[in-house]
Amino acid sequence: MTPPRQKLVVLGATGSIGVNTLDVVSRHPDRYEVLALSAQNKVDRLAEQCVRFRPRYAVVGSDEAAASLEGLLRPSGTGTVVLAGMEALERIASLPEADTVMAAIVGAAGLRPSLAAARAGKKILLANKEALVMAGPVFMKEVQRNRSILLPIDSEHNAIYQSLPRDYSSNLEISGVRRILLTASGGPFRQMSQESLEQVTPDQACAHPNWVMGRKISVDSATMMNKGLEVIEAHWLFNAPPERIEVVIHPQSVIHSMVEYADGSVIAQLGNPDMRTPIAYALGFPERIEAGVEPLDLCRIGTLNFERPDFQRFPCLRLAYEALSEGGNAPAVLNAANEVAVEAFLGGNLGFTRIPRVIAQTLADVPWKEVGSMEDVLAADGVAREVARLHVAGLGHPA
Ligand code: NAD
Ligand code: MG
Repeated sequence: MTPPRQKLVVLGATGSIGVNTLDVVSRHPDRYEVLALSAQNKVDRLAEQCVRFRPRYAVVGSDEAAASLEGLLRPSGTGTVVLAGMEALERIASLPEADTVMAAIVGAAGLRPSLAAARAGKKILLANKEALVMAGPVFMKEVQRNRSILLPIDSEHNAIYQSLPRDYSSNLEISGVRRILLTASGGPFRQMSQESLEQVTPDQACAHPNWVMGRKISVDSATMMNKGLEVIEAHWLFNAPPERIEVVIHPQSVIHSMVEYADGSVIAQLGNPDMRTPIAYALGFPERIEAGVEPLDLCRIGTLNFERPDFQRFPCLRLAYEALSEGGNAPAVLNAANEVAVEAFLGGNLGFTRIPRVIAQTLADVPWKEVGSMEDVLAADGVAREVARLHVAGLGHPA
């Protein structure tokens, strides 16, 4: 007898991760059934996905987008129920019939639906790293309490997950782990001087050398805040203290991260930089499934290089380590200030090198507090956004 198909919810279906997820899913119609899809406003793309995968539910960001999606779907008779707004996202993330939720909304907007999936005990494929950065203790508590299975999609964390023992019990000592080596490409400005960094444009920042990604994470890669967020993400996923997480610059993005053990062994996961590998790993887990990814040709690549990160030119990485050490609301404040600063940079309203200044000033201004609940996290996020907007207005663009 063939096993029943896994019922999948894809949050953020129209984004880079969402599209790659549906690409892997389309290779395995016998294994997966798409139960629900969501998108903020790319209604045309979502409509195409609905026609192709025939989900029972589709969620968009506004009533107008919902009306337009309904109009587009009417002739095709998909029977998809169209809903709008945050509560609808939480609803599809926790549908009783859903097995697996791909959390691929970008930014803080993904927190509530990701948390709803955790509370409902789903298997969560987590791409939305900001949720973990903002609300690490709250999110992990819900995952554990509801026996949710949490599989990282971020390529580095997926690599670490693969390089840790299969029965890893969230204790580095017990597993004999000395360090986690988190690799970073260094982004498009790895070799650029401080002076030239002052002048870079959003399009330059979004032209990543190895990965094609959404614009927010592309800017995060250029400032190296992405690696900072990933240090915090690794802390929560693997219960690793900051001093055991070391960032190593590896420009080719072939080694996706490594785990060093007490005996000196270093276990790494390698592959082409293609997000379909970690997505397929998590979708198939514990089995391995075809992902459509080119085989790795090491002889063509020839050389793998490694460097230490430069905390002077890329202060965002240092700010993230500091926020992790401070704990409490600091990571949520860091994340919110970063989202505000990146949006301002992408809109042409803030110079690139002022992104870390907005974040540092916001962290200095917002008083430190414990976070014990979602309300605490959302309060920190809200205050930090207000303060960060004031700093954006004050700093603006370089003349
Ligand atoms: P993207 O911008 O390409 O897509 C984001 C998706 O989220 C879209 O479907 C969009 O409609 C939806 N969305 C945006 N704002 C929303 C809101 N306010 N409410 C509801 N939905 C909203 O982003 P992406 O590159 O696919 O990244 C998604 C997440 O995955 C991010 O957290 C990112 O850090 C993480 N991630 C991405 C990659 C990658 O290769 N793209 C790699 C690792 C981790
Ligand atoms: Mg990553």
